Amino acid sequence: MSGIVTYNFPTRIRFGAGARHELCEAIRGFGASRPAFVTDRGIAKLGWFTALVDAVSAEFETAVFSEIWGNPVGSQVMAGAAVTRGHAADLIIAVGGGAAVDVSKAIAVVHSHDGTIMDFAWGPDMAPIDAAKLPPIVAIPSTAGTGSEVGRSAVISDDETHAKKIIFDAGLLPRIVLADPEVTLGLPAHLTAATGFDALTHLVEAFLTHEHHPMCDGIAQEGIRLVARSLETAVDCAKKQAAGETIDDAAHLAARADMLDASMMGATAFQKELGVTHSCAHALSTVADTHHGLANAVMLPFAMRFNLEAVPEKFLRLARIIDPAAKDGAEFITWLEGLRARLDIPAGLTSLGIAKDKLDDLIPVAVADMCHQFNPRPVSADDFRAIYSEAFGL
Ligand SMILES: [Zn+2]
Repeated sequence: MSGIVTYNFPTRIRFGAGARHELCEAIRGFGASRPAFVTDRGIAKLGWFTALVDAVSAEFETAVFSEIWGNPVGSQVMAGAAVTRGHAADLIIAVGGGAAVDVSKAIAVVHSHDGTIMDFAWGPDMAPIDAAKLPPIVAIPSTAGTGSEVGRSAVISDDETHAKKIIFDAGLLPRIVLADPEVTLGLPAHLTAATGFDALTHLVEAFLTHEHHPMCDGIAQEGIRLVARSLETAVDCAKKQAAGETIDDAAHLAARADMLDASMMGATAFQKELGVTHSCAHALSTVADTHHGLANAVMLPFAMRFNLEAVPEKFLRLARIIDPAAKDGAEFITWLEGLRARLDIPAGLTSLGIAKDKLDDLIPVAVADMCHQFNPRPVSADDFRAIYSEAFGL
């Protein structure tokens, strides 16, 4: 593929190397004049980001909020909204991985509504969101993982309890995504691996749920093919780049492009919901502050061994994406384990540095998580104990 192409699913996506340079044009297209960038502390220091801010500032009154780090919490949202309100921003430019894009969406809510972000969290007492008031969001993803740039929700944790809250509204879907694989070229190997595995987990779990959604099933299978083709290349190139070795730049860019597509496909497919792996991962983030993608990467093979007996035919279809001659769905799980090892991701929770005495804390959080309700095999508290115990090597 060469040049920049457009596809409109589920939102308008301008995809290709250099797509970020269309940002000013996108802002003009909305008739906006006071854009505000929202990004994380790490991105704020990168050359391609500061160049983008310079280009936008040359034409528009521009604000930048970059106090986002770690798993995003409500206070970061409130600090960001104070900046966008102070600037009277009329458009939000969300730049970064899942955390920064989620915080951007949440800022858009508080920017245009009275109250704190937790007032709008999903639940019986949630305050309504008036989509007509929301500023348009333009997203530039810098990782290939959550695919939040094509999603309608934001996950924000409570500052004190670390409980993850969901803010959802159709109006939170970014109006344009500038999907530019060049901005992911500098992502370190360990983050490329962890975020890539998050995308893979979305694709696999969405495919396995019982919900009827053949469109998502098709997207999920093609996304898995792209991950199988390109995740290792992307990680290898990142490793060699860090070691100062020469790499094939064209192959690197092509692998990054595949992963960027795959991550948006994962987030599109999980309209069909997710499953037990995500409940395990959400509990690890809540209890041990584990990186979401890394938690999924460690847990996915254990969770899939649990699921195999419930949907063996679906696992066989997955195995045949990897090897058309596959005879048994278990081969897909063996492939997952091999991929995890080749990407230097720990094969268990102990090597991830999580103490075994956390087991009892993890189980109730995982049980309370919504995701496993869509898992193809029902998951009890005892099942969570068994899955985590295996992951701890107990
Ligand atoms: Zn995820």
